Amino acid sequence: MRTELFIGGDWMPGSGSDQIEVTNPATEAVIAQIADGTPDDALAACDAAAAAQLGWAATPPRERAELLRGAWRHLIDHTDELATLIVTEHGKPMADARGEVAYAAEFFRWNAEETVRLRGEIGIAPSGANRFIVHHPPVGVVAMITPWNFPAAMITRKLAPALGAGNAVVIKPPREAPLTALRVADLLDEVGFPPGAINVVPTSTSGAWFDVVADHRAVRMVSFTGSTEVGRLLLKKSADRVLKTVMELGGNAPFIVCADADLNAAVEGAIVAKMRHSAETCTAANRFYVDAAVADEFTERLAIAMGEIKVGSGLDPDTGCGPMISAQAVTEIDGLVKGALEDGASLALGGSPLDRPGFFYPPTVLADVAHGSAITTAEIFGPVAPVIPFTDIDDMIAQANDTEMGLTGYVYTDDLAVGLALSERIQAGMIGLNRGAVSDPATPFGGMKQSGLGREGSTEGIYEFCETQYIATNW
Ligand code: NAD
Repeated sequence: MRTELFIGGDWMPGSGSDQIEVTNPATEAVIAQIADGTPDDALAACDAAAAAQLGWAATPPRERAELLRGAWRHLIDHTDELATLIVTEHGKPMADARGEVAYAAEFFRWNAEETVRLRGEIGIAPSGANRFIVHHPPVGVVAMITPWNFPAAMITRKLAPALGAGNAVVIKPPREAPLTALRVADLLDEVGFPPGAINVVPTSTSGAWFDVVADHRAVRMVSFTGSTEVGRLLLKKSADRVLKTVMELGGNAPFIVCADADLNAAVEGAIVAKMRHSAETCTAANRFYVDAAVADEFTERLAIAMGEIKVGSGLDPDTGCGPMISAQAVTEIDGLVKGALEDGASLALGGSPLDRPGFFYPPTVLADVAHGSAITTAEIFGPVAPVIPFTDIDDMIAQANDTEMGLTGYVYTDDLAVGLALSERIQAGMIGLNRGAVSDPATPFGGMKQSGLGREGSTEGIYEFCETQYIATNW
């Protein structure tokens, strides 16, 4: 297992002596010690990226694309190993981890195809005085900061389009789950990306890391995935050098069930939207608005289905929900549940942390939750489903939009016209209409409001890592 820093194509111990301990959240055991990057190491990584970037940008698009395609194949060929690493440091069930590897790798295949199709424009000025040519060079050196909930995919969703467009990158993976990032870098090195195009420097001092990286002359862009709170800090700091930013931030998704919905499908979709990856996703259904006519039945069925999910180590093939990332996460989730009960909700399932080693919280369903209770305003990031009955569609939509977040929403109804109309009224970047999963490398992933700026994936994703230049000329 790689435990050093990856800078300029070499593995190195780093300039400091500190180590970061990585814990298995299912057992609370320390599974690795890795080098703790210092600000000097971050600077060295920026220098290495700066040295590599122009040469990489000048590499023909087809050659860049072939390397991306090779990366897809190589990651897929290492699915078992990568998935096991993800389960060990994050805790999610093995099936979800394997799904994450497929999703992570697919960003390389998709962007291999986009790399050779970056398009510009040619036109005539309206006055007729001249022609213009518009094209899209790479931004330069990109700093990437990623969260722990998808240790592989949150990196590749940025890295693949950034490399495809001709940028060099410096990555800070999450302190909680950095091992997958290091192994992915190792595999990409085997594929043959040039030294310095990809640099990975984990650190326990993220603020100091970002301060030096954002101030480095070659760094022109920050691509961040994480909480809105940290995103705001990075935006403020990025303003000092007017860095380009893409921000993939927190969510608080409403999941709407109309009276005419197929309740079997709605419960199935609810389980997908709530429970995938141990319920620690930014797209997770956070508030279930259910027509009062079917709220009791939906709640009962959801409680039965969530009650059947086995909680345990992600390595056990029967596990449907692994541990949370930390003891603190369990405490925060439990606080939200207790707060909702104090506000008048009733418990349909679960409701207390499990008394065993590891950071486990059981699938929990809360009935008759009051809109405005803290559990409806916070991002739960755990296996808790609060059900809020509604009687008036307009009031419900106002409540669904009563949040500064706007990442994802879900609608279940048998009437497509109603479903589309409701989807359009939800202030969120992504909607699942009779579907519990929305993520796909071919689609633009991202949020409205304080859930983010910019998009990842789709054709839009690669252009985020490009500048726009036009040349006015005559011939
Ligand atoms: P976080 O914001 O705490 O941390 C994200 C990353 O930022 C980590 O690498 C962390 O070390 C780093 N960081 C923290 N403080 C920093 C600072 N001052 N300067 C520089 N870097 C700093 O988020 P998390 O707990 O790792 O992840 C969960 C959050 O991520 C949730 O809010 C979730 O919704 C969000 N998320 C969003 C998306 C999306 O695509 N919109 C995807 C996954 C997760």
